[in-house]
Amino acid sequence: MDDVQVLQEPVDSDSNDVTRILQRDQDMTVHFKNLNGGEAAGNLLSTREKMAKAMNIPVADIAKHLDNAISHPVPTVFTDKPDFRHKLTEDVDLLSLPIPKYFPEDGGRYITAGVIVAEFEGQRNMSFHRMMVMDKNHLAVRLVPRHLFTMHKLAKKAGKELNIAICVGVCPCALLAAATSLDFGVDELEVASAIRKSVSGAPMAVGKTDNGITVPANADYVFEAKLTFETADEGPFVDITGTYDHIRKEPVIRVEKMWTCREPIFHLLLPGGYEHYLLMGMPREPMMFKTVRQAVPRTHAVRLTEGGCCWLHGVVSITKNKEGDGMNAIMAAFTGHPSLKQVIVVDDDIDIFDDRQVEWAVATRFQGNRMLRVPDAAGSSLDPSASGTTWKVGIDATMPLGKERDYRRAVLD
Ligand code: MN
Repeated sequence: MDDVQVLQEPVDSDSNDVTRILQRDQDMTVHFKNLNGGEAAGNLLSTREKMAKAMNIPVADIAKHLDNAISHPVPTVFTDKPDFRHKLTEDVDLLSLPIPKYFPEDGGRYITAGVIVAEFEGQRNMSFHRMMVMDKNHLAVRLVPRHLFTMHKLAKKAGKELNIAICVGVCPCALLAAATSLDFGVDELEVASAIRKSVSGAPMAVGKTDNGITVPANADYVFEAKLTFETADEGPFVDITGTYDHIRKEPVIRVEKMWTCREPIFHLLLPGGYEHYLLMGMPREPMMFKTVRQAVPRTHAVRLTEGGCCWLHGVVSITKNKEGDGMNAIMAAFTGHPSLKQVIVVDDDIDIFDDRQVEWAVATRFQGNRMLRVPDAAGSSLDPSASGTTWKVGIDATMPLGKERDYRRAVLD
């Protein structure tokens, strides 16, 4: 890799220096040789270009591969010699690992690039969760009411602690799959395998932990653990908006074993950083694209913008067939990504990856009386300005049909 800064000097886990260093230049991958005694890396996939390069595909094709994988999961391939089963540690001490505290008022050190794989009654789920280190072998985990939350509830009903594996340092295919939001029962590991097969031709290799969980074979760290019935204070924590999320009572994870590969590097996902934005936001774009295209056949692209944390704000590019298509695209975009709070719809002459062009379209093609305002909808719990529900705003910045001559930017031939 070209843009990697290797840091030999020791970095302390509690000093917030990791954040300071990763924030300096978020395009730059940083390899910490000695974070609390271990190796770690951040800003690994902080641009669409790096993401595409890691998967060996053009940037413009990321959405296509993701979309294809989401609709056609592919079985994984089992290996009894996965990379992560190189070394076993039974007396796990999370406090001795390269896990940093990112912001001064965070509730503690946090695992931010941790993907949890859980299996219960034949059902598997893989999802991202922030996990706060409580002591040497306990974590408090934020569970939004989705699939892992449901499995935890089902296990509780059955009187069993839920067996899980926490994977850190997995490939981009697994990271993107873990960030998708699909129907309950869809196996994200098979979606990861489909992304892998789509970009490389071969499905994803997986291995098994001693507690019976199937996980990506190439993980650097795999923690075998139980999702217990206990709860603890989780937070505060700076999440995707860059603001402090508040303290909640959340379930406690008891870590029982740790597996590591030959030279493990702990993946650090800078909270509210570009890598966090992209990993969280990009997997939502194919779903938005699909719902908008159902409403407006000539939909060209959708993008969750960095300025909107790749979560709250989006842009959609369409070619209108009839007047009102812009408004329909707005409504469809809100359906495709329920956390979306503002969407701008533009014509196909606007490059939606260029924020200035998008604002130019709003400035020259839109009037405030054509804004769609939706009161009291469900939005993101991460938006500090939302109080329970969210007001959604849609901006139709498309040209009126037949008036293109008045609206197109003049060009030289
Ligand atoms: Mn799921």
